[in-house]
Amino acid sequence: MPSTTEQTIYLSDYKEFSHFIDGVELTFQLSPTKTRVKSKIHFRPNPKAPEQAFFLHGEHLKLISAHIDGVKISPTLTETGLTAEVPNGPFIFEAEVEISPETNTALEGLYMSNGMYCTQCEAEGFRKITYYPDRPDVMATFKVRVESALPVLLSNGNSGTSDEGFAEWHDPWPKPAYLFALVAGDLIAHTDSFTTKSGKDVALNIYVRPGDEDKCAFGMGALKRSMRWDEDVYGREYDLDIFNIVAVDDFNMGAMENKGLNIFNSSCVLASPETSTDANFERIEGIIAHEYFHNWTGNRITCRDWFQLCLKEGLTVFRDQQFTGDMRSHAVKRIDDVITLRARQFREDNGPLAHPVRPESFVEINNFYTATVYDKGAEVIGMLKRLVGDENYKRALDLYFGRHDGDAATIDDWLKVFEDTTGRDLTQFSKWYSQAGTPRLSVTDEFSDGTYILHFKQATPPTPGQPVKDPRVIPIAVGLLNPNGDEVRETCILEMTEAEQSFRFTGLSTKPIPSILRAFSAPVILERQSSTKERAFLLAHDTDPFNKWEAGRALAKETLVAMLTADAPVNSDFLDALAAVLRDENLDPAFQALALALPSQDDIAQTLFDVGVTPDPMAIYTALETLSQSIAQHLQDLLPRIYAANHVEGPFSSEAAPAGKRALQGAVLGLISRLDGGDQARAQYTAADNMTQQLQALACLLRIDRGQTELASFETQWAQDRLVMDKWFGLQSGLAAPQKAAAITETLTKHAAFDWKNPNRFRAALGGLTANTAGFHAADGAGYKLVADWLIKLDAANPQTTARMSTAFDSWRRYDAGRQGQMIEQLKRIQATPNLSRDTHEMVTRILGSDA
Ligand SMILES: [Zn+2]
Repeated sequence: MPSTTEQTIYLSDYKEFSHFIDGVELTFQLSPTKTRVKSKIHFRPNPKAPEQAFFLHGEHLKLISAHIDGVKISPTLTETGLTAEVPNGPFIFEAEVEISPETNTALEGLYMSNGMYCTQCEAEGFRKITYYPDRPDVMATFKVRVESALPVLLSNGNSGTSDEGFAEWHDPWPKPAYLFALVAGDLIAHTDSFTTKSGKDVALNIYVRPGDEDKCAFGMGALKRSMRWDEDVYGREYDLDIFNIVAVDDFNMGAMENKGLNIFNSSCVLASPETSTDANFERIEGIIAHEYFHNWTGNRITCRDWFQLCLKEGLTVFRDQQFTGDMRSHAVKRIDDVITLRARQFREDNGPLAHPVRPESFVEINNFYTATVYDKGAEVIGMLKRLVGDENYKRALDLYFGRHDGDAATIDDWLKVFEDTTGRDLTQFSKWYSQAGTPRLSVTDEFSDGTYILHFKQATPPTPGQPVKDPRVIPIAVGLLNPNGDEVRETCILEMTEAEQSFRFTGLSTKPIPSILRAFSAPVILERQSSTKERAFLLAHDTDPFNKWEAGRALAKETLVAMLTADAPVNSDFLDALAAVLRDENLDPAFQALALALPSQDDIAQTLFDVGVTPDPMAIYTALETLSQSIAQHLQDLLPRIYAANHVEGPFSSEAAPAGKRALQGAVLGLISRLDGGDQARAQYTAADNMTQQLQALACLLRIDRGQTELASFETQWAQDRLVMDKWFGLQSGLAAPQKAAAITETLTKHAAFDWKNPNRFRAALGGLTANTAGFHAADGAGYKLVADWLIKLDAANPQTTARMSTAFDSWRRYDAGRQGQMIEQLKRIQATPNLSRDTHEMVTRILGSDA
């Protein structure tokens, strides 16, 4: 049994807190093992709150003293908090507690990372700092005084008095405790400034450890672009005199949007051409934007309770996706996002961890920072925008900001602004928030007398706790093409609301070729029987870039499934279609690179499982190798020319156009390596002056089981750069041949630089293995056992990262009895670990389900 009480919390049990808070004053006297936190909280009764005892959250705190209105009290302490008798009217609660940041390895609350103090309070970390109503609907203004000999002392809001040994900060905007932040350390600032649309100057700083100051310029540019974009597109200005970002090496998540003091995993902010790939640059830009956008969607308007997490996350992900599309390419961004959605969210939605975008219960909220809440949450907003149109979306958002600024709001509040703006009834649409599972959308068509009819059926499979589902509102974007390739009907949105529904198009001279679910207009699985010829036609002619790519992806999947289930040879139509894509000089190289990429092993495993075939991970790996080899041979005359044509001259730029060329060059290099034994890759490795091309070349070599010399030289070159060394670890476990993957990963865990308590390093090595599908699922079970051993070890130090990584086992039902037995055995071994955390216990129990 887990050490902490496992109590399930329900959305339906929500009640308001007993008091409001008119102000909070905090003083921190920092010390690694004996930090003193003094709090002074001004409480006022909430007349609308139901009868309840006065309760403040608090965990792992040593209470030194507590006072109410200056009178010492002896409150009742439990494992989860404090109760006390309080006056009927307003009162001041004061407490002094002692905490030990240095021994806090969970990285929640106040902790230390390489001699620097930092905090992570979302979702429930503030209760590990002091006694407080640690819930998002209790908002207050904070005054903070930090006392320490360290040179840089930061907290939220605007800076106040400071001198040797202390600094004061004042945040005028009421906020919940999860947005509290504090940083103290020997840091260097990269500084800049931004003038808002209304003419207010904002000081901008990115704080890093000495030595990293040359890796801040890109992040700073991204921040300024984000600030401008939110003004231009959403009309939202920044609202403090200063905006600080701090880079931290030990961090469970990507980054955190604390008011005015964003704290970032250093991997999500530090960038330079020599050490970061194009993918890193794009991700960093997106995350900086995401955290900045939270200032309005999350901070100014926060969530009433954690069941509403998607209110801030779904919307902010949607906004950062729009931003990246505007900065780079909407087509490429959409394809990338759908690849991620299918890999993470569809997998979650089709397994034991399926849950609605707005869950109705949880044991540990940290376990609900999921692809469903974030990515499907963003998809739901995209659908809403499609259904109401761009103009109404804009009006609804203006109303949302106007009506709810300063509120802790709910999904119902969010939908109400759309109802009030448009007059639409969104009751049925709201099922996207309450029902889990990915709808299957099947379609058939018919044509006669100039009329073309599309017949749709929707059904959503059962998910844990939700055996039966109602029909959803599904916006289906459809365009029609003539057999000569012309578009005869531009994209229109068909609004499906019934379980079965037909839509007709009249006045057509010939039977059209339909392009259905353009731009992936809804997060559903489209099931349509279609010929290879038609797919190849759409890959060549579709005017919708997403569906153009999707046609190629469907061809690749069908080819692989036929190879795996019917022993079919490689489909030559698919190879010809790829050649046509590569020859088409009108296409964006980034798009061509995406078209050349094959579906992942995990994707094929799920596809087989969906059609009732038990996937064999090794057979899938082999089929993908065979297909890649066939593609390389089929395109061999074309490859050297494309490789040369996409060479980027001049100084490195992380912008979309050169990055797209490098992506295509890298995809082509992968194919060339299968023909030349790695000669070209070795040459690229030696010549590379940027990490994108160096890493590409190394990856190409590892994929063909070469590259040992380069791995060694890479290690020597980058031994001092922890973020680059994460890549070195991840590449080896991730790309190892399946039979060797567990052994190689085990060797990596014995490397002197394997700091298992650092989440980035742990994820690189062990996460590399779990992403290496055939390696993780090797028949001897070595991959399962190694990962389980390490999860058990990590859980004692860092429950949050352990629980998140345990999802590697969530696909156990797909596989054969032997693998199922081995995975269940490891899950039960983790579950039976003495003193297992609440986080991991909940996760493993859900993954096992009731039938294991
Ligand atoms: Zn977020």
